[in-house]
Amino acid sequence: MSRSSSGSTTGSSTAAPALRGNGQAGVEEPARAPIVRVENLHRSYSSGAAAVHALRGVSFEIPRGELVALKGRSGSGKTTLLNLVGGLDSPDEGRVTVDGTDLAGLCEDGLLALRRDRVGFIFQSFGLIPILNAAENVGVPMRLSKVSPRRREGRVALLLSLVGLADHAAQRPGELSGGQQQRVAIARALANRPALLIADEPTGQLDAETGLAVMELLRAVVRSEGVTALVATHDAQLLGLADRVLELSDGVITEH
Ligand code: ADP
Ligand code: MG
Repeated sequence: MSRSSSGSTTGSSTAAPALRGNGQAGVEEPARAPIVRVENLHRSYSSGAAAVHALRGVSFEIPRGELVALKGRSGSGKTTLLNLVGGLDSPDEGRVTVDGTDLAGLCEDGLLALRRDRVGFIFQSFGLIPILNAAENVGVPMRLSKVSPRRREGRVALLLSLVGLADHAAQRPGELSGGQQQRVAIARALANRPALLIADEPTGQLDAETGLAVMELLRAVVRSEGVTALVATHDAQLLGLADRVLELSDGVITEH
């Protein structure tokens, strides 16, 4: 299950993931290979008569363990890019490699497994299931991955503590604040120990203070869980927490 060269806990090395368990065995240079490699991505939408060229040749790499912010005005292609990186959509041209896997080589089931086990998604609108309580929401990805109830319950409790919601396990989304709901969504995204977190304007529905707290939580889990994150935001205050900022404009990336 785990990468060939990494033990489960290896102390102080900054490159060593603490709680990682997924990924493919036997991919090239596991320690140094970037988690995300995007090469010359193009994506157009045909809307009515005109085509919209949302991405026009986007390339970048994200090394393991980084928190990368993706900024750009509304309509600049951030969501389009995140969907391609997360295997929710496929490019017209170009290549996406996630954790050593070329997404073009995956069938629908393979993409489903990737999205379930190796990528965690966080959305602006939280995306929690209203009739399930916080603990049950966090447990959903593990149910889908057939994790035993005992292991699932243990990890749900650990994740709820990690996001500061141990005392709110039994509350449904409607009984939680927006910031708390997003914390539940972060815990859920981490459930199957993904290599990559993808967050699409995770603070977009939160006030500035709550948004900053959520971004700081993302910053903290990237460090503590050894996960890598790609976070779209147009909130300038949050960009300072990123290791690197990529900017999308006119469908191309400029790095800062
Ligand atoms: P952002 O997330 O930065 O706001 P998007 O990726 O959502 O940008 O959109 C990029 C461009 O592609 C915009 O011009 C948008 O209108 C267009 N677009 C996005 N999704 C679709 C779609 N499903 N059909 C047609 N046009 C789309
Ligand atoms: Mg968007």
